[in-house]
Amino acid sequence: MGSAKAALVTQSLRKQSMAPLTSHWASLAVFGNKPAFAEPLHVGRPNLPDKQAILDRIAGALDRHWLTNGGPLVTEFECRIAEQVGVRHCVAVANGTIGLELAIRALGLTGEVILPAFTFIATAHALSWQQVAPVFGDVDRVTHTIDAYEIERLITPRTTAILGVHLWGRACNVEELSELAVERGLTLFFDAAHAFGCTHHGQRIGRFGACEVFSFHATKFVHCGEGGAVTTDNDELAERLRLLRNFGFVGYDNVTAIGTNAKMSELSAAVGLTSLDCMSSIVAANQGNHATYRRELAGLRGIRLLAYEPNEASNYQYVVLEVDERAAGLSRDELAAVLAAENVLARRYFHPGCHRMEAYRGAQLGRVPELPVTEYLAERVLALPTGMQLDKSSIAQIAGIVRTAVENALAVRGRLSQRRAA
Ligand SMILES: *Cc1c(COP(=O)(O)O)cnc(C)c1O
Repeated sequence: MGSAKAALVTQSLRKQSMAPLTSHWASLAVFGNKPAFAEPLHVGRPNLPDKQAILDRIAGALDRHWLTNGGPLVTEFECRIAEQVGVRHCVAVANGTIGLELAIRALGLTGEVILPAFTFIATAHALSWQQVAPVFGDVDRVTHTIDAYEIERLITPRTTAILGVHLWGRACNVEELSELAVERGLTLFFDAAHAFGCTHHGQRIGRFGACEVFSFHATKFVHCGEGGAVTTDNDELAERLRLLRNFGFVGYDNVTAIGTNAKMSELSAAVGLTSLDCMSSIVAANQGNHATYRRELAGLRGIRLLAYEPNEASNYQYVVLEVDERAAGLSRDELAAVLAAENVLARRYFHPGCHRMEAYRGAQLGRVPELPVTEYLAERVLALPTGMQLDKSSIAQIAGIVRTAVENALAVRGRLSQRRAA
């Protein structure tokens, strides 16, 4: 073996066996040091692995002078999503939120719909924009998805549906929810914004309930910049969704329903198709990042990294910590402040819970419900950067900052309160 090659091998061996990086507290940026990263690291920075392929597809659309309204790129995108999910229909839309709104309309929902409070606010907004009252339920402390027992309690004569959210790409308890929905005569459908490429009992998410809604927003795993899709096996529902997506037009000038404009453009589909082409390399990067975080944070007191079910396919798009303030010696917000000083912009998803957001606080029959698990999680959850933007050593460095902060919690806490007072 040549010496250069031998050196490389030794170096990579050393890297692999690297012990968790714990540094002296004084190395942290909150103590006045240079940030670990020169540029801010964002959660959900778009994966754009093949710029040239995107540009080539866009050039094709421009050459065809066909930019929207059932163009070949959107059609191909729909076929590929339907095939991957294993459903008869995929209706591509402009974004996930309007996908939810179309689904609500097409399913004919009225009155009240039960959903988890621990979700992105769009899940609730989609209902409200369709004049349906969101009724917030609590989630399970371990899975972070809606608690079926909770739902029972919230059903009223006005309830028409249950809207589950496969949070972090981890499936809801689909079987229990289905049973409950059938028993109580309710529609069941899902916000699958996080869950493209994920399975539940080995079956692709996108096939459950009356329909499922994906988001292909730039921050999501596979994305179109802006985009979404509704998937279903129900022919009539799919037809209704397509009708409503395009102003209710049947043919050139016959309008049979009050629709909207929810169409995906060819330009978005160009990004989406390229993203689909690169799906396996995005998963590999995310999975590797997740494994590095897991290794580097192992055994750290008060820090729990949310795991993905090893027997399911997953997109590993979310690196979610639960920070237990008592055990860690630092609150989630204190840890976020330490990371922000290093230019690591971790996110407090979904603080403070939809039910406590200003827009909904007053709207819930005069009082904000108490949802102890949602409130518990909203105080503890912190999402860390991942994706193709980051290599292994950056991930190890971010984890090292978390470790250094927690292992020197007293000094860090003192410093943060000093900074706040200054
Ligand atoms: C992103 C997201 C949405 C909204 O999707 P958009 O494409 O951004 O409109 C809805 N629900 C959840 C859980 C999301 O994360």
